[in-house]
Amino acid sequence: MIKFLDLHKINARFDKEFQERFKNFLDSGYYILGSEVERFEADFAAYCGTEFCIGTANGLDALTLVFKSYIHLGRLQVDDEVIVPANTYIASILSIINAGLRPILVEPKLDTYNISAEELIERLNPSTKAILVVHLYGQLADMDAINAIAKSKRLLVIEDAAQAHGAIDGSRFEAQSSKFRKAGNLGDAAAFSFYPTKNLGALGDAGAVTTNDRDLAETIKAMRNYGSSEKYVNEMIGVNSRLDELQATFLNVKLKHLDEDNAKRRAIAKRYLQEIENRKLTLPFYSGGLDHVFHLFVIRVDDRVDFETYLQSRNIGFLIHYPIPPHQQNALSMFSKNLYPITEEIHKTIVSIPMSPVMTDAEISTVVNVLNAY
Ligand SMILES: *Cc1c(COP(=O)(O)O)cnc(C)c1O
Repeated sequence: MIKFLDLHKINARFDKEFQERFKNFLDSGYYILGSEVERFEADFAAYCGTEFCIGTANGLDALTLVFKSYIHLGRLQVDDEVIVPANTYIASILSIINAGLRPILVEPKLDTYNISAEELIERLNPSTKAILVVHLYGQLADMDAINAIAKSKRLLVIEDAAQAHGAIDGSRFEAQSSKFRKAGNLGDAAAFSFYPTKNLGALGDAGAVTTNDRDLAETIKAMRNYGSSEKYVNEMIGVNSRLDELQATFLNVKLKHLDEDNAKRRAIAKRYLQEIENRKLTLPFYSGGLDHVFHLFVIRVDDRVDFETYLQSRNIGFLIHYPIPPHQQNALSMFSKNLYPITEEIHKTIVSIPMSPVMTDAEISTVVNVLNAY
């Protein structure tokens, strides 16, 4: 059996260090917003190249806190429209709604699965105030085009970078090699999730916001902690969404290995792209650069039910990201009359095949052989 993702194996690599750090954590007697959270925030900001990083309880809260803080600062108003790709994970859309804003769903491109800048332009109107870009499956969205649109229309750009830790903007990389820019530093603010399955995954829930905007950073820092910067003094209606000290401890161990894990994922993707040859299977677009960290390797197949049965019979793990598009979820019935044919086509035909930094060469070969024999 080749697992879709072997989380135990991923984390077993750090067993000894985790145990040691846990002992220190236990002995410290300091369990909320301590030195491990502080260190992670400093190191992850440095990693992304931003001035600020604020840890949160999870990725959805990180996104929601960005929007709520922009409202608190008067840079967004309740009911403003926020553009978001129609084929994203539902969390992106929930964050907009939970902050009191209005999501406007925009179709992706079929080859990259990322938001189409052309479709985006069509959906702009005077109520549009922000764009939530999602670097879906680990591949950066077309940030040059999106930032140009945002600049001309004075829109905020927020990245949902929950699947793209460490992805590097290729065009900027060549333009100014010493000042390349990573996911988390390609818009006005970004949200990350460190859910265990992500490229940088904790051993529980965790998230963060990165930004270069000091006012936003200070607002989020207060808002995640009851709206308080000074104990028992509350400046705003806040929430409790702190990054857990123990999760920060684990993340501090794993952050050092993120680049090497991403390189491993890219190497697996390159093998898949070179070696999988089957006209029934459509492979994902990849530039060959550092702008993709292959959180997932997502292929498309017309007869998915048949393909799923085949993979099961050959003991190859797989998942669908995601089986029901957001606009067809009961929770989002306000969108049920809208048509998103590309999104629907994607949701009907996609299959995510095994991808993780701990796959062996033999396992990769088996996946390739099984797919080629389909
Ligand atoms: C995982 C994920 C989130 C939410 O993260 P949680 O930590 O589970 O709240 C948001 N957006 C995308 C695209 C994700 O993949």
